[in-house]
Amino acid sequence: MKQSASFLGLAETLKRVRGTRSKNDKVRILAEYLKPLTPEDAKVAARIASGRASERGSKDEAQVGYSTLLGVLREVTGANEGDVSRIYLRHGDLGEVAEELLAEKKEQPLFSEPLKLSDLEDAFARLRSLKGQGSSVARKGTVKSLVLRATPLEGKYVVKVLTGEMRTGLVSGLLEEAIAAAFGLSKEESARAHMIIGDPGDLAEHAARGDAGQIRIQPFRPVNFMLAEPMATAAEIAQHFGGLAYAECKYDGVRAQAHKSEGKVRIYSRRLEDVTSGFPEVVEALGKTSGEFILDGEIVPFSEGHPLPFQLLQRRLRRMENFDEAARKAPVTYFAFDLLLRNGKETIGLPLSKRRSMLSRLVQGTAVRMAESTDVASEEDVEAAFRRSRASGYEGLVVKDPDSPYAMGKRGKGWVKLKEELDTLDVVIVAAEYGHGKRAGVISDYTFAVRDGDRLRTIGKAYSGLTDAEIDEMTRRLKEITVKDHGYRREVKPEIVVEVAFDSIQRSDRHDSGYALRFPRIKRIRTDKGVTDIDTIEKVERVFAGQRLKVDEK
Ligand code: AMP
Repeated sequence: MKQSASFLGLAETLKRVRGTRSKNDKVRILAEYLKPLTPEDAKVAARIASGRASERGSKDEAQVGYSTLLGVLREVTGANEGDVSRIYLRHGDLGEVAEELLAEKKEQPLFSEPLKLSDLEDAFARLRSLKGQGSSVARKGTVKSLVLRATPLEGKYVVKVLTGEMRTGLVSGLLEEAIAAAFGLSKEESARAHMIIGDPGDLAEHAARGDAGQIRIQPFRPVNFMLAEPMATAAEIAQHFGGLAYAECKYDGVRAQAHKSEGKVRIYSRRLEDVTSGFPEVVEALGKTSGEFILDGEIVPFSEGHPLPFQLLQRRLRRMENFDEAARKAPVTYFAFDLLLRNGKETIGLPLSKRRSMLSRLVQGTAVRMAESTDVASEEDVEAAFRRSRASGYEGLVVKDPDSPYAMGKRGKGWVKLKEELDTLDVVIVAAEYGHGKRAGVISDYTFAVRDGDRLRTIGKAYSGLTDAEIDEMTRRLKEITVKDHGYRREVKPEIVVEVAFDSIQRSDRHDSGYALRFPRIKRIRTDKGVTDIDTIEKVERVFAGQRLKVDEK
């Protein structure tokens, strides 16, 4: 068997990719590197290039916390805490810290062979499998053995992939192109296969083997969800569709893809995680349907014809209390709105109108419900449907083009959404402070940021919106992910995503984004989203520009 390629080659490639702003160059450099690799190596390399140490949607992550990594770096290099924080503050990136520190490595392994791609894959597999008692020691040991053998550049990329902070600008489309160019696929074939298979590593492996063209949607292999584009007004939506559209209620629950084949049912979350065990009543309802299928829909806390507060479901998901009791307090209904596969046939290319009629036949006579929908053709229709949806306790509308195909993983214009607030932003918490008075002793003030290219820019601070129990839980998690402890204030690893509502956006010098949210309040903790899913500075600028009243604090 051919030997696995060196990791140094990949680290150097990633450095070059990062060093150029040209998208064409990024694609070319990566493609040249991938081309001679075996399918197994191509898988590891493409996955690492995408910034992940585990398969997309995998239940077990190989990711390692900042404190473990910092501990390993200190042990291997002999640096003290002060040195490390100083270097960290200069770079704001743990990978760069690793590179700088490793240039003066103190500990050396007795004999050291250069790292191969297969060594990384083995170490990641081990990290994924470590659980429970003693796992943190073993985890540290595994990371340490990699770091000890790494050159400074390799160490940088080991750390970057383990923290999920790659920042090479290799967005998914560019990865697809590079894989296409390396293995003789068209861009379209590569994109289609990627959409279905979900993970860039698996895509590269199939492409290198020459069978990426045969990848099909299959039961129990979740695919990326179609997303909706936000629009601000009913008028904008009516104009966008310019004729008949379906206005569906926008349910406030958890997005869920339901698969059934050979009598077995599995449910996958937006992150493509298997969440089947959390929803026994949905599994039961789906079990009463016939044949094979993949559905898209939303699991909603719902009882006696009415939606219940979303928080109830969150508690149930996090298993903060006895599961049976939580399930009783938060009974759920699955509202289905799309069909991706039916009895061995892909339906994603059919028009929505057709998919919906197939779906409605499928769920008939079961406890699964079709999402409520009204036909709309004018601004007044959209407005009326929106009011009705709000009056029934839903968030707003998702309006859909009857002719549109199901665009996996895309925020296309086939679906648009309308919500009540000016807007909300998904932001990530980057720092936090202890509260005062009633909130003394808990970390209740959160500074949050949006994305600007591959940087994070702060845009506000929120103090309200969470329940006491949620604040307690936040306090615990924030302590865990603290990068720097300044006493009352902590800088934290950017990983907790919250959805904030606000009244308006103003220009401001207080935050480094140059904007501030007025009256921000946390709508919910988005456990389903990660830092790569948060909103961007471009969205902030768009919302700011679209406001009727503009406030300039400067
Ligand atoms: P947002 O989370 O604000 O980006 O809004 C999009 C989300 O709305 C989707 O990811 C779904 O989870 C949810 N949703 C609720 N009802 C529907 C519906 N009828 N069609 C599509 N998505 C829906």
